[in-house]
Amino acid sequence: MKHATLPDGTRVPALGQGTWHMGERGSDRRAEADALRLGLDLGLTLIDTAEMYADGGAEEVVRDAVAGRRQEAFIVSKVYPQNASRALMARSCEASLRRMGVEAIDLYLLHWRGGVPLAETVEAFSRLVEAGKIRRWGVSNLDVEDLEELGAALPDCATDQVLYNLEARGPEYDLLPFCADRRMPVMAYSPVGQGGRLLRHPALQGIAARHGTGPAAIALAFVLRREGIIAIPKAGDPAHLRENAAARDIVLTADDLRELDAAFPPPRRKQALAML
Ligand code: NDP
Repeated sequence: MKHATLPDGTRVPALGQGTWHMGERGSDRRAEADALRLGLDLGLTLIDTAEMYADGGAEEVVRDAVAGRRQEAFIVSKVYPQNASRALMARSCEASLRRMGVEAIDLYLLHWRGGVPLAETVEAFSRLVEAGKIRRWGVSNLDVEDLEELGAALPDCATDQVLYNLEARGPEYDLLPFCADRRMPVMAYSPVGQGGRLLRHPALQGIAARHGTGPAAIALAFVLRREGIIAIPKAGDPAHLRENAAARDIVLTADDLRELDAAFPPPRRKQALAML
């Protein structure tokens, strides 16, 4: 199974699971936790969540999913930018821990950059590492310039979680090479384009037909073709989960990649990092 290696040497699966929009309706929670557990069974053991999702509801779904299986899961959660301060981060982290019923978060990310200076956020992360509340920290939605601003703290940053899929290839121009040079994995969010227009694209459908799979699996295989990328598709539907898991075994041919480049051209110049 494909893995990515974090800067501290920890290996995580290159294909994980997202949780945005989980926990929004009480009646769906059981099925959502079941889906995450099926994902664990399939080896998608990295689970991405955030205090923002369903106002903490997604973290509660994660609690139900990992109950009795904590050791199998690598849990990523995120702090709101306005809570990423010396004064407020510890409280946010405690609330996330309580909702998930775990003693420590494996990887805690700044969700996006807000008004709190990055240096202060890094200091707050470091305190949580020392206190054993989080195992490591990282960032999300930060472009190259922001990452450079981390300065001496950059080697401790475990990942940058960004929008990366066939329709959003901007990071290939500079962000992916920048992170690869520093051996920092990039976590690709919305890797199947939120299940929308991307999956209906004729080029993707044609390649999927040749491989005997669905378009989402091809979209994932494309993102996972590079070393050091972790993709975190969200799937509540068991059939989607199985298709996504199968993406790990797909090897795109040179012809497939040429067709994808024609349909979704790679960036020729710097593009500001897009975010959802
Ligand atoms: P995704 O690209 O993962 O798409 C999720 C949607 O695609 C769901 O509606 C899902 O349907 C559908 N889907 C999944 N697999 C398949 C498949 N095989 N065939 C057809 N449809 C499929 O988008 P997200 O925006 O959810 O991104 C993934 C995760 O990344 C989030 O859940 C979140 O954890 C994280 N994220 C982080 C952001 C950040 O700012 N840091 C921003 C956005 C996302 P169904 O559920 O019915 O299976």
